[in-house]
Amino acid sequence: MNYPAYFDYNATTPVDPVVLESMLPYFGLHFGNAASRTHVFGAKAEEAVDKARKQLARLLDADPKEVAFTSGATESINLGLKGVWEANRQRGNHFITIATEHKAVLDTCEHMARQGAEITCLRPDSDGLITADQVERAIKPTTLLISVMAANNETGVLQPIQAIGEVAHKHGVLFHTDATQAVGKIPLSFASSPIDLLSLSGHKFYGPKGVGALVVRKSTMLTAQQDGGRHERGRRSGTLNVPGIVGIGEAARLCQLQLTNEASRISALRDQLEAGILAQLPNATVNGSRQFRLPNTTNICFAGLDGELLLLSLNELAVSNGSACTSASTDPSHVLKAMGLSDDLAYSSLRFSLGRFTTEAEVEAAIRHIVSVVNRLH
Ligand SMILES: *Cc1c(COP(=O)(O)O)cnc(C)c1O
Repeated sequence: MNYPAYFDYNATTPVDPVVLESMLPYFGLHFGNAASRTHVFGAKAEEAVDKARKQLARLLDADPKEVAFTSGATESINLGLKGVWEANRQRGNHFITIATEHKAVLDTCEHMARQGAEITCLRPDSDGLITADQVERAIKPTTLLISVMAANNETGVLQPIQAIGEVAHKHGVLFHTDATQAVGKIPLSFASSPIDLLSLSGHKFYGPKGVGALVVRKSTMLTAQQDGGRHERGRRSGTLNVPGIVGIGEAARLCQLQLTNEASRISALRDQLEAGILAQLPNATVNGSRQFRLPNTTNICFAGLDGELLLLSLNELAVSNGSACTSASTDPSHVLKAMGLSDDLAYSSLRFSLGRFTTEAEVEAAIRHIVSVVNRLH
């Protein structure tokens, strides 16, 4: 089979070969349980976990003690929102989030609403952006936590999380950010940002699937949502996924090393792809802010075309209509709809996300392929 060129890095990234290499010994010789304190097998595993925790903390400018390993961003988000609520019931039951969040946040909020929480879901403007003012106006005396993503997975739009966090703290409200798409792509400093909880996932930045972290500021009260051996300072029980944790640590180290160079290389390729498409297809437009955006993502609306047919016809490319995370449904993107797009325009939109292994030759071939397919379908 001839594989299509991969333009779906926001759905998942390949494991970097260097990351894979770093993990292998922990499936073999160093198979120990990181919680086994009585012998060298456990010590080897614990040492590797400590190192990975430091590597991840360094990328995020966080204290290693603030990092709790989980199975991925979905679990981190569930733990962060539900765990904060359970530990702080007396402080309030009102949560603020935005309509363009990942389903991991929106579905968790819905679950909490069924249990008696009050949820305010803010709508962004047509660029996909919300403002700190908008958030501030939604705060009430009962507001416990605000959850706003750092970067959107479908459009790449970056929210003003610094300003939103400042507003939250001014009112004594906790702030969680789903930084799954931001980690490894743009610089983040947990230490100098008004963020109390931050969620991330290894497989979005060249680490393995099934491992992530919730970064929790020291003073934040959080009740574990999974009970057992009180691993991860009591925040998340369960035997640690040592090879996965080694992998996410190594992936963080690689991102840390090359973040600036990689972001500028990838954004140049993304801009080339976008410019090539827009120049040759007058009906094509970009969804979402182009100013406040990840370097690797473009979401393009091919007005007048059926997105499903377009997706099938683009057989030389692996791209998505932005709903990989809600793969069971064929509904139009909730993100694009929240930005005011009609069902038709949302259906006609595709997400292109580039990454570490994208080449200029692939971008040039992609432009030619997209232009010829769209012209044929019109
Ligand atoms: C991928 C993603 C998630 C979920 O990550 P999992 O690894 O599937 O748990 C959450 N939020 C955003 C923004 C994502 O892109």
